[in-house]
Amino acid sequence: MASDPLLCRQCGSSRLRSHGRIPSSSLFAGQKLDPPWPGGQLLVCKACHLGQRQPLRSAEDYARLYEAASGWVWTRADLRGDQKRVRDWIEAQSGGGDVLDIGCYDGALLAGLSARWRRHGIEPSAAAAQAAGGRGVEVLARSLEALDRADGAESLRDPLPASARRFRIVCAIDVVEHVPDPSAFLARLARRLLPGGALLVSTGDLDAPAWRAAGGAYWYCSFPEHISFLSEPWLNAWARGSGLQIETLERFRYDGPSGGPHRRRLWRRTLRQSLRLAALRLIGRAASPDSLRVLGEPGPFEDHLLVVLRQASPR
Ligand SMILES: [Zn+2]
Repeated sequence: MASDPLLCRQCGSSRLRSHGRIPSSSLFAGQKLDPPWPGGQLLVCKACHLGQRQPLRSAEDYARLYEAASGWVWTRADLRGDQKRVRDWIEAQSGGGDVLDIGCYDGALLAGLSARWRRHGIEPSAAAAQAAGGRGVEVLARSLEALDRADGAESLRDPLPASARRFRIVCAIDVVEHVPDPSAFLARLARRLLPGGALLVSTGDLDAPAWRAAGGAYWYCSFPEHISFLSEPWLNAWARGSGLQIETLERFRYDGPSGGPHRRRLWRRTLRQSLRLAALRLIGRAASPDSLRVLGEPGPFEDHLLVVLRQASPR
């Protein structure tokens, strides 16, 4: 199903609406792509609301590039704005317990927590995992699937044993847009929650007005490693099906320049690109994907979501 451009790769529906072409890219997680990868299209499923890049490359292509990107670790002294948000949310909870950060990288987010929280991570990069270990983070596995396998649960259909590690808080910060099947990914996270536990997810907001205007050319989907895109309708539908409740959902700006000049530039460029594409259509020509400009940038727009999903407590 993953390679069929006409079907939603999450629910299999053929009710896909195109939101335009995604510009080609010559960088993947800091690795040069030669030749550049065509961006494909941004499609949104009318049945399950998942936004998705199609077509995808082979799983081997992604694995090779993520592997190549994992040999170095880049540590910054301060936390990003979204990480601060998550840290502050966790610190506002009473008591303490076990926290799991998926894709914990160098452990920066967890290292900022007070001592009442025990810190655990999942991290594919050996270099980053080593850095996280040095910050007091116990890295449990390279991937969630590996952790599940270690617990004898090969697929989502296999129940986790009672002895499997469970957590009061599980965080997936800027991760879900990298996975081909966000529904299965979040389901794997949800079953790692203790009763009453919270799942924190942050990612781009497909429904942000600036993104809707720019379509597939929007900066957030121009990264070739970003392949799945969520929105409030998707999260509502997923939460209903998974037995979790959305406790809070907030929109925020990613780190970057804010302010009027940047916003005005986006609207000008979006308008110019739309007019050019319309003119080409009128004369029966298709725009070359290489001539598409990436529109917008991190910072000026509230184009990210932070959602807290809560596992029901037993009565
Ligand atoms: Zn779908």
